Amino acid sequence: MPRSCTVCEHPDREAIDRALVGGASNRSAASLYDVSEAAVRRHKGNHLPAKLVMAQAAEEVAQADDLIEQVRDLQRRALDILDKAEEAGELRTALGAIREARGNLELLAKLLGDLDERPVVNVLVSPEWLELRAVIVGALEPHPDARGAVLRALEGADNGSRA
Ligand SMILES: [Zn+2]
Repeated sequence: MPRSCTVCEHPDREAIDRALVGGASNRSAASLYDVSEAAVRRHKGNHLPAKLVMAQAAEEVAQADDLIEQVRDLQRRALDILDKAEEAGELRTALGAIREARGNLELLAKLLGDLDERPVVNVLVSPEWLELRAVIVGALEPHPDARGAVLRALEGADNGSRA
């Protein structure tokens, strides 16, 4: 039966990952956090890259959210100018504002569409999910077989298909 990863389940996993990303050697991370060097090596090879990819995706989502907010701000201003131009009877300016507003809407639709294609990533990096995951794994402690099966299934969900 494949062993679960002692680094992934380690209470200081975040700190270990940060140390490894920061260039700490397997040996120093292992001795610092009282896990085996082999476990660190396996974790670094199999689990850390997937986690970094997820972090990167989360970062991209955050950047997209920021972009969307900026486009919304532009849209508010364009509509504001449209109102003023209409009140002043400046039809040429009003038409320009309408064109800008339409462009903003197209951009917003595109940005929101891009985000919709990767909702799963948000779930896997959310603190709620990581907490729930830890609770599930902890609750299955007295049932090693079920625990192993659940851990394997969770690894699959986290990493995509694994050999
Ligand atoms: Zn691991």
